[in-house]
Amino acid sequence: MRILLQFPEGLKREALKYQEKYEKEGHEIFIASAPCYGGCDLPLDEARWIKADKIVHFGHAKFVKKDLPIEVEYIPYNIDVNLQAIKKAAMQLKQYNNIGLATTVQHVHQFEEMKNIFELQSQHVFAEKGYWAINVGQVLGCDSLGLKAVEKKVDAFVFVGDGMFHALAIDFETDKPVFVIHPQTGQLRQINEEIKKLKKKRKGSILAAVEAKTFGILVSTKVGQFLLGSARLTKKELEKRGKRAIILVSNEIEPLPLNNFMLFDCYINTACPRIVDDVEEFGKPILSIEMLREVFEIIDKIKNK
Ligand code: SF4
Repeated sequence: MRILLQFPEGLKREALKYQEKYEKEGHEIFIASAPCYGGCDLPLDEARWIKADKIVHFGHAKFVKKDLPIEVEYIPYNIDVNLQAIKKAAMQLKQYNNIGLATTVQHVHQFEEMKNIFELQSQHVFAEKGYWAINVGQVLGCDSLGLKAVEKKVDAFVFVGDGMFHALAIDFETDKPVFVIHPQTGQLRQINEEIKKLKKKRKGSILAAVEAKTFGILVSTKVGQFLLGSARLTKKELEKRGKRAIILVSNEIEPLPLNNFMLFDCYINTACPRIVDDVEEFGKPILSIEMLREVFEIIDKIKNK
């Protein structure tokens, strides 16, 4: 079989090991080398060019829900958390009776063990499955719906994971404390201030977009991010409000080639929703469709005054 292997950036160093493994099994192996950001981002074009029979995607759980032109096998990459360290951190959170717990796909295989730590302290743990997540308690950078679903039942949210990308997926309205526990060191931090800052940044983009005249609507051809229908609707809605709008299509969404057009006052992003958090790199407001709805509300209110 001709197989195209794909690794996210943090796992690319494993490529040779897996190439050897599959070759020993008699397969012809190619490696996709372009950046890979998530389970949404499959190398379908590369697979078509090399006439691959299958893609093996490492490091993420199944994401894409639509039918694909090629078989795709998702192989998650489990990394064990330090349960003793989590236990120590959990002891500092004993005052919260009801916990909304979540982690990333790398650690979700130990979700029950982490849940037990809190339950042994007589706490109740709540978790649901989000929209894109395939596991209960799993958060993706674009999917914290599993936590949002339990918001009313909990006194605090606890996210076990490294870095801030997944933790800041918790961007829904909540006055509950949000804590992050580092999966290896057990370091505990509260991140409500960071969430507030992110929201403030997004609000700034919304207000700046009200005055914008020319909009670039960004569509990514990454299979799990491709939303051409939304882009078309967005264009119509902008034009109804007297704005100029152009749909821009590319695989990667990068600020420099976009800014080289020197045309746009504002971008509307229909691809990975977290791109809007890189607003500084774009140098101008960049909004999700949800954020644009708020812009429309403001524009419509001004018009109807
Ligand atoms: S859309 Fe963005 S946040 Fe969601 S899986 Fe893809 S890269 Fe990650």
